[in-house]
Amino acid sequence: MLPNMHDAEPIPAAARAEIDRLLQTGDLFRYTAPEDAPVALLEREFAAEMGVKYALAVSSCSAALFLSLKALGLPRDARVMIPGFTFAAVPSSIVHADLVPVLCECGPNYRIDLKDFEAKLDTVSAVIVSHMRGHTSDMDAIMALCDTRGIPVIEDAAHSLGTTWNGRKIGTLGKIGCFSFQSYKLLNAGEGGILITDDADIVARAVILSGAYEHMWRKHLRPGDNGAELEQAFQRWQNKLPLYNLRMSNLSAAVIRPQIPEIARRVTDGRRNHDHVAAQINASPWIWVPEKLAPEERAPDSLQFNLDGMDEAQVRAFVDIAEQAGVKVQVFGLTTDNARAYWNWQFLPEMPDLPQTRAMLMCACDTRLPARLTLAECDAVAAVLIQSAEAVMGEHRAYGT
Ligand SMILES: *Cc1c(COP(=O)(O)O)cnc(C)c1O
Repeated sequence: MLPNMHDAEPIPAAARAEIDRLLQTGDLFRYTAPEDAPVALLEREFAAEMGVKYALAVSSCSAALFLSLKALGLPRDARVMIPGFTFAAVPSSIVHADLVPVLCECGPNYRIDLKDFEAKLDTVSAVIVSHMRGHTSDMDAIMALCDTRGIPVIEDAAHSLGTTWNGRKIGTLGKIGCFSFQSYKLLNAGEGGILITDDADIVARAVILSGAYEHMWRKHLRPGDNGAELEQAFQRWQNKLPLYNLRMSNLSAAVIRPQIPEIARRVTDGRRNHDHVAAQINASPWIWVPEKLAPEERAPDSLQFNLDGMDEAQVRAFVDIAEQAGVKVQVFGLTTDNARAYWNWQFLPEMPDLPQTRAMLMCACDTRLPARLTLAECDAVAAVLIQSAEAVMGEHRAYGT
């Protein structure tokens, strides 16, 4: 029996009582209560979970990326590098900040091509490493290359909550890390995002820019050791920055907070399901699941794999057969107007040619694989993928023998 691969997990029941309380009191705005608003509590809990000093919850990961770029104080038209394989919202956040996206090549394993990255690095003022679909690029190499040049790194960890690199949490390696609470991510609030950093000046700027008007920044101070440093940073930026109003509502925070204790289970189950299906489909001569990098422990809730030795018509036939059998697969470069195919980002001020990334996107498949599936359900998904490839290519092989 094929599982429902689309629905999200239910929101923990604990959220209901808090939402009811908020609805009764009408206290939905993060700055209404004098202290301890749900959004402020979420920020403290998320910072503690990630082991960082500061967190700022906002309306989306895209807003977090935009605020990160603004908080870095980059001049208009400064160039910002991103991988050529990411979601359209990432270059969009750069354009939104009046900056210019520079795309670098990605390899067949979905990760940043370090040769192209290094070749373009001296032309940019900042880097957003987008860990697309939770695939981590070589962060040791990237941080070393950027640190020697003093180039700040923002991690787009929208889809990487729970992933580690050499035991360190993804999102804490760069200067700023950004996460999403959109429904297809590990923590689901429908919409929402959060940025984390250890830099008081960066978070002070981001807080004000996000819409902490007048002295609302006081509600971001916490009892404890960071208060003095942070307060001085807020004083420095008082009245100096525009207010973009990208705040999070208390209702969203109430939905997210009870899911934080679920992170560990969702990560473990998602990884188990992914690795279980990957091992099976890798045995097909026409399917290849790229290996993770050695320092990486992944937190997948979806599965990506490449079709090997198929032409475009065969790739399309594979997708059709799998869909008829109940497993929806998208090939990033083949579905019409796909937001992860860089040639569809026609708003870019400069459209690059990335032949290696393009070739990957034309054979890279994407299917959801939620953590809530059982291993038996995962077996059924793997069988459909293997049989669909066989249905397209098996005949082919028979003629050859
Ligand atoms: C989902 C996602 C985003 C955008 O997040 P929003 O919260 O919807 O703005 C950006 N980057 C990656 C890698 C994503 O997966």
